[in-house]
Amino acid sequence: MTEKVNLLSLSPKKMADFFVELGEKPFRAQQMLKWIHQLGEDNFDNMTNMSKALRAKLAEVAEITLPEIVLEKTSTDGTRKWVMRMPGGSSIETVFIPEKDRGTLCISSQIGCALDCSFCSTGKQGFNRDLSVAEIIGQVFVASKSFDVPGERRERKITNVVLMGMGEPLMNFDNVVDAMDIMLDDFAYSLSKRRVTLSTSGVVPMLEKLGDVSDVSLALSLHATNNELRDQLVPINKKYPLEKLIPAVKTYLDKLPDRRKATIEYTLINKVNDEMEHVEEMAKLLKDVPCKINLIPFNPFPHSGYERPSNNRLYRFRDALHNKGFIVTIRTTRGDDIDAACGQLVGQVEDKTRRQEQYIKLKELTGTVNKHV
Ligand code: SF4
Repeated sequence: MTEKVNLLSLSPKKMADFFVELGEKPFRAQQMLKWIHQLGEDNFDNMTNMSKALRAKLAEVAEITLPEIVLEKTSTDGTRKWVMRMPGGSSIETVFIPEKDRGTLCISSQIGCALDCSFCSTGKQGFNRDLSVAEIIGQVFVASKSFDVPGERRERKITNVVLMGMGEPLMNFDNVVDAMDIMLDDFAYSLSKRRVTLSTSGVVPMLEKLGDVSDVSLALSLHATNNELRDQLVPINKKYPLEKLIPAVKTYLDKLPDRRKATIEYTLINKVNDEMEHVEEMAKLLKDVPCKINLIPFNPFPHSGYERPSNNRLYRFRDALHNKGFIVTIRTTRGDDIDAACGQLVGQVEDKTRRQEQYIKLKELTGTVNKHV
């Protein structure tokens, strides 16, 4: 038996091809995108504007399979976080951050990450695998649906999506591009290209390729202002050093049809990259790059070997950049009461899973297994 197609994974173009192959008109693709992504429907029986015969045919060849939610927590400040288990057992996390004028969903693109940035807890977990299109867009589906009120029209809570969760999006290029196409499509999430942001650590050839197929907003995980330090903090820099990376960012921005700025992400680590000489270097590096700088105080995790800078050092760094004429923001911590910072919830769930597995192994050995621990 051939495997069923998961319709959640189909970009608008692939959805149209799928219906044409079924002998249907392309407008069925738009109907299906609307059912899935705008109405949150995953049951063909409820798709009442499709004939019974078509629904029966769909049930034979297709399915809508969603990620399994293992944890959903909402903070007192409205931040919401999900841990989703993927086939194979690993988990990813997705965070929704509400603000006055927008709601931002931060999604993952890979399970783990191969780039091994020295200050990143995801990097320390190593690389497991790429997420499929369905697993990437499934995070947007789950988050959008969580705000639905039965019987009421869906309110748009998610206005922005940032690919800043687990993984390097450009290392999972095709799936990420298809998922972003779904986010932008008028019959799906209909997000503005300005409000979908891909964050990269600097995979230069892929960034160049992205400019050929997409015009979403760009964030660059810079984190260091010279090659020597960046080689240590963001090892992909050894392959694509700053003198290649910065021009590639400029070229990407130049190709955009509007005058959009890149977001420069800079994790401030105490006495590592937060000295005044780094401000000087950053000013030189970014002098011709239309950008705003987002400072992220390092969020300590066990055995990282790094510390969060004091507020004095943080503000001193911010003010010095301001004085150089940059727009600078400091990322505030949200959802503290639900461990919403990157990697914390997955750590908890995986620790529990590991404990359960160890317990089951022990009990199997002693012959008294009880899986409900
Ligand atoms: S900072 Fe980003 S690219 Fe670097 S290891 Fe972490 S997830 Fe990967």
